[in-house]
Amino acid sequence: MAKVRAPRRPLESYTVKHISKTIKAGDCVLMRPADQSNPQYVARIERIDVDARGRNVKVLARWYYRPEESIGGRRQFHGSKELFLSDHYDVQSADTIEGKCTVHSFKNYTKLEAVGNDDFFCRFEYNSCTGAFNPDRVAVYCKCEMPYNPDDLMVQCEGCSDWFHSACIEMTAEEAKRLDHFFCESCSSEGGYKTTPEVNEKSTQNLAFQSRCSRSGDESITS
Ligand SMILES: [Zn+2]
Ligand SMILES: [Zn+2]
Repeated sequence: MAKVRAPRRPLESYTVKHISKTIKAGDCVLMRPADQSNPQYVARIERIDVDARGRNVKVLARWYYRPEESIGGRRQFHGSKELFLSDHYDVQSADTIEGKCTVHSFKNYTKLEAVGNDDFFCRFEYNSCTGAFNPDRVAVYCKCEMPYNPDDLMVQCEGCSDWFHSACIEMTAEEAKRLDHFFCESCSSEGGYKTTPEVNEKSTQNLAFQSRCSRSGDESITS
């Protein structure tokens, strides 16, 4: 006769012995991928619990997706350390955690003096079924009208306050870094700069995709 399984009980925190790190709900962690040739998975720990005998500690992980794991794939404006907070949860053994990491807000990430291996950022939530992002629009900058990729150096025009890629203003990153003042082409036309009111209405790019719900969830993350 089957025994009634003793209920699992929640744990406030748990020390993952093989890395000597204590985790608690809300922490972001790196987890061992099923295929070891893939980069580590990144997850936010939502809950930790343990069986009645005090063994077999499990975590409820909310996955962060890397841009290449999303339905739309990696796009030019995605940063190398960009992640999307997905609606995809799994229960995992706590011992598959291989390290802790930090997922910064976009704003905090752009203020970091140095980006370490374990620093990431997130500016979108991601629906793993539809491929939709929240927010579904993102501001665009420069004359190329691209959303901001924090890996690319940009310089701000003192006239219109828009930001420009060094390449789009025909400068190397080194040259752009040395600029004390910068006025874009339209602001530096003869007779000094003028402010152009229309750029104050922030342009945005719509991130919506055609719904591709017919694809299985597994397929969408194996690309
Ligand atoms: Zn540009
Ligand atoms: Zn300007």
